[in-house]
Amino acid sequence: MIRPYVLKDTNWKTVKETDYSVAILPWGATEAHNFHLPYATDNFEAEYLAEVSAAKAWKKGAKIISMPNVPFGVNTGQLDIDLCLNINPSTQYQILNDIVDVLDRQGIEKLVILNSHGGNNFKQMIRELYGDYPDVFVCAINWWQVLDSAGYFDEPGDHAGEMETSVMMHIAPDLVLPISEAGSGAENKSKLQGIRDGWVIAQRQWTSISADTGVGNPAKSTVEKGVRFLENITDKISEFLVELAESDTNNLYEESTNQ
Ligand SMILES: [Zn+2]
Repeated sequence: MIRPYVLKDTNWKTVKETDYSVAILPWGATEAHNFHLPYATDNFEAEYLAEVSAAKAWKKGAKIISMPNVPFGVNTGQLDIDLCLNINPSTQYQILNDIVDVLDRQGIEKLVILNSHGGNNFKQMIRELYGDYPDVFVCAINWWQVLDSAGYFDEPGDHAGEMETSVMMHIAPDLVLPISEAGSGAENKSKLQGIRDGWVIAQRQWTSISADTGVGNPAKSTVEKGVRFLENITDKISEFLVELAESDTNNLYEESTNQ
């Protein structure tokens, strides 16, 4: 079936007759994920979440288009890991800027970035874009933060751990090696107290924090856990997409009740 809400599937015949109001841009990374998950893990996740959420919103009448995934992310902490393919934040901004420019010209004035990689951070870019393209409403979702993963997993983990392995068991089961092949995902903590406590941020050098590139133990991963988490996240994202499609982005704020 050709999905009219997935740009890589659809055609000019459909596009020219459809008044799309919200575009989704899935954005991943190409990087090692412990020994057992594919390099394109973040890309599979981004595209899956964008397309399934778009499908659910489309069913409710919202005209959503999920664009092709951008497969390269910010990986400056993994430059010494073979075939981790870094693009710098400034490059990322140029790509995003060009996409927003196109959408602005074509009158699609709502963009949702569906981010799947912790090293990608779009908030400052959205601030800069707002100055240049005030008519385009740009927002970003880090999908792993949509719900509290603690309610779904014993030990969710940060990178290629139980949460990420469980969702990949559903999204791309043929590409997930048996858990017996995976490393423990043990993380070496910083010697600096402020960083350990989480209130100081800095770039982590990945080969110093993990022996197997994973951060988080994948041992208790199951496909059932992944399915339940993905189902609830895509429900929630699709509700946001419907709400955004129906909203007037020039009039987004409720009047305060205590004036
Ligand atoms: Zn990942």
